[in-house]
Amino acid sequence: MNVRAAVARAVHAPLSLEALELDEPRAGEILVRVVATGVCHTDIAMRDQTFPVPQPVVLGHEGAGVVERVGAGVRRVVPGDHVVMTYDSCGTCASCADNLPTYCYDFFGRNFAAARPDGSTSLRAGGEAVHGNFFGQSSFATYALCTDRNVVKVSKALPLELLGPLACGVQTGAGAVMNALRVGVGRSIAVFGTGSVGLSAIMAARVVGATTIVGVDVSAERLALARELGATHTVNAGDGDPAAAIVALTGVGVDFALEATGIPSVIRQAVDSLAQHGTCGIVGAAPVGSTVTLDVLHLMTGGRTLRGIVEGESTPSLFIPALAELYVQGRFPFDKLVTFYPFERISEAIHDSETGAVVKAVVRM
Ligand SMILES: [Zn+2]
Ligand SMILES: [Zn+2]
Repeated sequence: MNVRAAVARAVHAPLSLEALELDEPRAGEILVRVVATGVCHTDIAMRDQTFPVPQPVVLGHEGAGVVERVGAGVRRVVPGDHVVMTYDSCGTCASCADNLPTYCYDFFGRNFAAARPDGSTSLRAGGEAVHGNFFGQSSFATYALCTDRNVVKVSKALPLELLGPLACGVQTGAGAVMNALRVGVGRSIAVFGTGSVGLSAIMAARVVGATTIVGVDVSAERLALARELGATHTVNAGDGDPAAAIVALTGVGVDFALEATGIPSVIRQAVDSLAQHGTCGIVGAAPVGSTVTLDVLHLMTGGRTLRGIVEGESTPSLFIPALAELYVQGRFPFDKLVTFYPFERISEAIHDSETGAVVKAVVRM
């Protein structure tokens, strides 16, 4: 079928809006009419080949839309269902069997190969193959193919065009707090980096009853938003060592730290801000090959932990509807992160995301 899609053909260049042909859904695939899609920093990193996703490619991995047609064997949705499309996973490896699909052994293949598992591509521009299936969707398009593994059905009572960010950025931050770190009532957490992921973590920390929630950033404007969304304290990292400031304001450091910038020196600051037996989670993607230096005795003698967390360690079919319900109840106002753009202005949406002019750009088809 004919679709309109934003194609990445070169690094650091605007996407080109093109007419492409998209395959009909094969067995296990679902054709979704995309209503809106979030822009995630991973899309920008892949356009710029931080990780070698093949080009030309249609990026986009926070899609929300309506099921149009389903291939053989699809069990989770039927045409007309409202859905969001999240990360893909194989469903058969040891991690998937253990209900840890974010650590699927084929996570990179399923999400970054920009092709089906059999190597075929689903998009064409005339005779030219265009890579699709990015994060099992390639949602920077009017229609996308996802799979029975990464489709999440949502209530038709919800504002569908708002929901795409729940599929990646929002569940990454909120899930890190709620599923991976399991921050509990009365605990303390510092969130380094108050973009969409960090602000989602702050909102989640408020929901679970953390009583000390420290937002750390270099932008006074973002820190003001962090306070509005649940931070009890903020630290401007431009004013000096944020770890020292956090230890000073809490007396002992924080039970949990979340690193959402992907900057190795900030990982060090996050670990340094931990109280005894504290845990630091890394959700920011650093460039390939990045390393971090830690104070070994500080880590060891305090029983501290440093760990990675992918996609909020969520089971998307449970967690995304739960976040949507918290939003409806007014307890998780992630709409305050969102700025909408029409599809024709997707390059502007990406530019504004890169510069930090907006927290979470969502493109409406
Ligand atoms: Zn797997
Ligand atoms: Zn993402």
